This record gives sequence, C-alpha cells and structure tokens, in this order.
Amino acid sequence: MEVDPGFIGPAALAKAYRFVGDPRDAEHYERLKDLSEDEHGIYDCTHCFNCIDACPKGVAPMSQIMRLRRVAGSDFEIEDRNNGHRHERAFVKNIKRNGLLHEADLLPDSYGGKLHPRAVPELMQSLPTVMKAVARGKVTPAKALLHEHKAPPEVKQIFKTIEARPKREELNLYVSGYEDAEDNLDVAHVPHTDEPTPLAPTYPVPEPPTESESE
Ligand code: SF4
Repeated sequence: MEVDPGFIGPAALAKAYRFVGDPRDAEHYERLKDLSEDEHGIYDCTHCFNCIDACPKGVAPMSQIMRLRRVAGSDFEIEDRNNGHRHERAFVKNIKRNGLLHEADLLPDSYGGKLHPRAVPELMQSLPTVMKAVARGKVTPAKALLHEHKAPPEVKQIFKTIEARPKREELNLYVSGYEDAEDNLDVAHVPHTDEPTPLAPTYPVPEPPTESESE
C-alpha cells in the first residue's frame, strides 16, 4: 500500500478529537468538514494499527480517528473528497444485503450506484483490471453481476440489534474525567482498549505483611 507523506498523522488527529469530543466546543462541524475534506485528513488513515502499537502512552490514536470519522459521517453526514464516508456506507449496505462482501457492487455503490455520473468514470477506470480478472478466470461475468448470496437471518439480526441501540454519546478522555494520558509523561503504557483508561488509585496501598507479622 502506498504511504501518503502529506498525511496529517495520528498525533495531530488524536489532538483534534480533544475538541470534537468536547460538547463545549462550538465548531464541531467546521473542524470535521476541514478534516474530512482535506485529502490528507481523517480518511487517509488506513487502519494499520501501527500507531496503537507504537504509542507509549496508551492514547490509541487510531481509535480517536475512527471516532472523528463516525461523528463526521454518521452525525453530520459530511461527504469527503476521498469518498471515504460513502465507501463505508456502501460496505455496510453490501454486507447487510449479501451477508458476504459482493465486490462487484462495492465500487459503484461507493460512488452512488452503477448509473451515477460520479461512478461512471470510476467504473471505466477499473475496466482493464476487471478484464484481466475475467481473462485469468478469477471472475466470470455471471458471478460479477448476479447476487447468489443473500444475508442469512443471523446477519440480519446483528444489524437489527445494532440499529436499535440508543444514540451513542462519546466524550473525549479529557471531558469524561479519565486520565489525560497524552499530557502525562509519567503514565505507564496501557494496552489498547476501547474502554476509557481508568484513573490510577490515589489512596495509599498498604505494604504486604512481613513474614513475622503473618505468623
Ligand atoms: S492506524 Fe496506521 S495509518 Fe492510521 S493513523 Fe495509525 S499509523 Fe497512521
């Protein structure tokens, strides 16, 4: 995969979530629009998990970037120039309908459907790749165009459960009162988790009894 040297980067984007995850901030939309429309912004992250593995302070920048995307896409319906939000929506729709990913639909759906003016140039561009795959027998026109697989009831149930959940409220670590790991240089490394980092106990921890005391 090609790396974009102009990518804003995990540290700056994690910092951006400090503002977007704070309900007192009055410019969520403007910030998210900038970060979405910037071709080096939130949709330039490739989910490689490297920043989570490398971060010595347990900040998990990729999780903050995914939160920025969720708020930008799902809450503000911001369309980005990298087509990231539409692609995510098309992916979810594809799985909901087919149960398994049907690749032939993913590209056109990401650009608004097979006949959408945005999709036509993209489909033309991908034609040589498709022809190569057909020539090598990796795909047949019938397989590419027909949906043989439909989502089983279990997959439909997963979608029902998720869609019935109440609207999520996400506050950043600084507002929710949990440890401000980004600014605390003494904090020990905490393995990544989606749960907020709990506060370290402030009460004195009693010494374990000596051998003579415990007898
Ligand atoms: S997940 Fe990978 S691409 Fe995304 S910000 Fe972290 S290191 Fe960069």
